[in-house]
Amino acid sequence: MNYFVAAQLIAFFLLVDTRPDDEWHYPTPGSNGIISEPETWGGQCDNGRRQSPIDLTQAAAVRGEFAPFQFNNYKLPIRQAQLVNTGHSVQVNNADPAVSVQGGGLPGRFVLDQMHFHWGSEHTIGGVRYGLELHLVHHDARYPTLGDAVAARNGVAVLGVLFHVSAQPNMHVALILDTAKDVRMEVGKGAPLKGKLSPYNLLPQNRTAYFRYEGSLTTPACAEAVLWTVFTESIGVSLEQVEQFKAIHDQTGQELVNNFRSLQPLNARALVYATEWDQLGRGPASLCQPRLLTVLAALLLSAKALLR
Ligand SMILES: [Zn+2]
Repeated sequence: MNYFVAAQLIAFFLLVDTRPDDEWHYPTPGSNGIISEPETWGGQCDNGRRQSPIDLTQAAAVRGEFAPFQFNNYKLPIRQAQLVNTGHSVQVNNADPAVSVQGGGLPGRFVLDQMHFHWGSEHTIGGVRYGLELHLVHHDARYPTLGDAVAARNGVAVLGVLFHVSAQPNMHVALILDTAKDVRMEVGKGAPLKGKLSPYNLLPQNRTAYFRYEGSLTTPACAEAVLWTVFTESIGVSLEQVEQFKAIHDQTGQELVNNFRSLQPLNARALVYATEWDQLGRGPASLCQPRLLTVLAALLLSAKALLR
């Protein structure tokens, strides 16, 4: 082999190896559906101490009590909504800075930038994974853009909404999937949403019970800038709808079978479970029945005493 051919070969391999920064991927599951290889995304993704997602469990959490969330203009349909295939998800961008959230223990007002889905939820609750997880990504209004806010601790607020598999399809997810057909084969492609979509319709009814912790973006470069809120009440979605997300293709032209990052260690962070508590510090779910039973038992006892 002469030097010229060798030099050409070396140049070829160097070119092949030179990938753009955003060319990362989710590990492919084995034939049993279990993902065994870890993501090796480098940098903070590999050596950060405040990474996301994590397993959320009340046993590991401390009690939180915050003012109610205030959702500003969440009921308005997203203006000129486009669905984009990012190669890692499908995403709806929002350009209206009036769509924002505050309260809920957030340190200010946070502007909605975009919403995207993970199929196979990223967070688990007590080790249980959900069919889908929606991320509503916001930046602190004190920063001009999401890009600026990512550099600051708690500069970003993500609301996570979990979807459980149920018999009934979800009409708002149906709108996303209907539009996804137009962009599923081409990364970077956008298509106008085939109907109106209000962020409010993708929130659970109970918006007072949630987990809160300080974590990271779940995609490279995994910036540790995110104040996470994951609602405990999930929304129903049909199995067929979950499966339809898997027809979306990634940058290699293959089906994006799942797009959730592996669970990360909690390390030294506090996990907070916030809800509306009664005076004994019990959540609303445990509040009604035991108290009613106590009252009934007391009545029975006093009735018995009277009859003697
Ligand atoms: Zn996400």
